[in-house]
Amino acid sequence: MVHNFNAGPSILPHTVFEEASQAILNFNNTGLSILEIGHRTALFEEVLNEAVSLVKELMHLDENKEVLFLHGGASTQFFQLPMNYLSKDKKAAYLDAGVWGSKAIKEAKRFGQVDVVASSKDKNYTYIPKDYAVPHEAAYFHYTTNNTIEGTQMQSIPSLSMPLVADMSSDILSREMDFNRFSFIYAGAQKNIGAAGVNLVVIDKKFLDKSSSAIPSMMDYKQHVANGSMLNTPPVFAIYVCLLTLRWLKKSGGVAAIEKVNLQKSNLLYNTLEAIPLFQLPVAKEDRSHMNAVFTMNNEALEQKFLQQCKDAQMIGIKGHRSVGGFRVSMYNALPLSSVEVLVELVKDFAKQHG
Ligand SMILES: *Cc1c(COP(=O)(O)O)cnc(C)c1O
Repeated sequence: MVHNFNAGPSILPHTVFEEASQAILNFNNTGLSILEIGHRTALFEEVLNEAVSLVKELMHLDENKEVLFLHGGASTQFFQLPMNYLSKDKKAAYLDAGVWGSKAIKEAKRFGQVDVVASSKDKNYTYIPKDYAVPHEAAYFHYTTNNTIEGTQMQSIPSLSMPLVADMSSDILSREMDFNRFSFIYAGAQKNIGAAGVNLVVIDKKFLDKSSSAIPSMMDYKQHVANGSMLNTPPVFAIYVCLLTLRWLKKSGGVAAIEKVNLQKSNLLYNTLEAIPLFQLPVAKEDRSHMNAVFTMNNEALEQKFLQQCKDAQMIGIKGHRSVGGFRVSMYNALPLSSVEVLVELVKDFAKQHG
């Protein structure tokens, strides 16, 4: 059995793979493949409607929220959002706590003024900045809830008066959160909710009212909302895989239940690593991510040996991001606790051999 610790695209529930495969051959006993049905048919409308309603249910969204499935991945939101809300005389506030957030900042600067309220770049993004002031005139405050590359996670929602915007690509639906406090949420699907090629967007109606209409239609949130994510051909199959994953999550007990398992997994791994001096945990303890655990060893040769042992034991995706080095273990919703248990045994054995 392969243990898939990939950072994204990443593991999805096995039942999702089976159901998705079946739908490619014969979708809902129609004799048609999901890949060949028209998107403006009742067949696909049902898929989209159910996916939207499951998102609303699992996130406990109130009446004021619109749910969209858009093309382009999270990186498109890096520029689509400021394109809608900024201009040369308008300002947005951003928290710089990781590589993905810094990319969002770079794109926002093309459209308006950007106030970077705090940055942890000085320490290689190993912590989340805590004390900062946000200019009250900011059109929005943008942050990344989970820094996938660096392995940090915001443990609470900032209390601010301006609209809150969050990139939740790597921890969406992994823990209970008051999602209604956000004016805008986006997440590339390929980490926790489905296949690459689609982006989940949750937008508050009041915030939607303030978006621009003087931009290309495909960038215009109002047009996407008015057309129910069908302004053009949506990524049909990717949305279907989201639907299957959302159904699986609901069946597994929803967000509260998966959060418990996610905590078990990350606590097991962090507690094990903390007890072994051979391994270092570079991230500030209170900011550790429950999705992506980053750790290192002060010995290049041993690191290689550890990676080889992981590979031999069919554990994949453990090599750290090229900008951080060491190791990164991604433990998204679909990763079973048993995979972390197997990894922890290997970590302990390795420490016995080399400690
Ligand atoms: C993976 C990731 C992205 C990039 O997503 P794409 O869908 O590849 O554009 C952006 N933000 C975060 C936090 C991510 O983890």
